Amino acid sequence: MSVRLQFHGELKDLLNGTADLGENCRDLDRLAPVKDLIESQGVPHTEVGLIVSGGAERSFVYTPARGEIVDVFPHTPPVDVSLPSVLFPEPFEEATFVVDVNVARLSGLLRLTGFDCLYDPRLDDATIAEVAGRDRRILLTRDRELLKRNRVLRGRLIRSDRPWEQLAEVIRFFGLRDRIDLFSRCPRCNVPLVNIDKGDVLDQLKPLTRMMYDRFTRCPGCGQVYWSGSHHSRIREKLAAALGDLQ
Ligand SMILES: [Zn+2]
Repeated sequence: MSVRLQFHGELKDLLNGTADLGENCRDLDRLAPVKDLIESQGVPHTEVGLIVSGGAERSFVYTPARGEIVDVFPHTPPVDVSLPSVLFPEPFEEATFVVDVNVARLSGLLRLTGFDCLYDPRLDDATIAEVAGRDRRILLTRDRELLKRNRVLRGRLIRSDRPWEQLAEVIRFFGLRDRIDLFSRCPRCNVPLVNIDKGDVLDQLKPLTRMMYDRFTRCPGCGQVYWSGSHHSRIREKLAAALGDLQ
């Protein structure tokens, strides 16, 4: 007698190899925590929203018995990480992020829209997973193996390879539309910007900028001064296009 896992919804697309029993079933001839069984089939635990067997919700450490049938479901967006569940008993205070190098440009867009997103190309996978667990950050990556690491509590496998679509994926999945705060954080350093008086930066501005703009912010991290120029309109347009169905 083996343990049968039945994968549902988008999780079917993540299964490795070919299934013998149909496209969503796997029979496994070993006893182990259900997290290990699920991940051995190619599905990172971060992608799982609900595990049910024998009419009960199960946690990741639950070990199914021989002959048991376990249903594994994806998340149902929007996912609010501040709410506890059987799989995620310790909620996060808020949605903050860490990304790895394969979605580096996504980090810039998240910061641009006001979200705290850590990205450091010097960090290796083990350190990224450690930071995600220690600081309780949501890990965003296109690397399934990174999401499988035990230290990772919350994460999301990014599907698109286009940065603006990736941003839309994250905002939809975690229900963050109302938390967007454009141009409030430095895209270089991830530090919140502060308002400054125009008079304090007059000597740093080109004549046209000095003439046309009145509202300025500065990054306390790198000292960069920002103002609402024509590039802001272009970014607003791109964001509106990416989030089109949410407008
Ligand atoms: Zn900065």
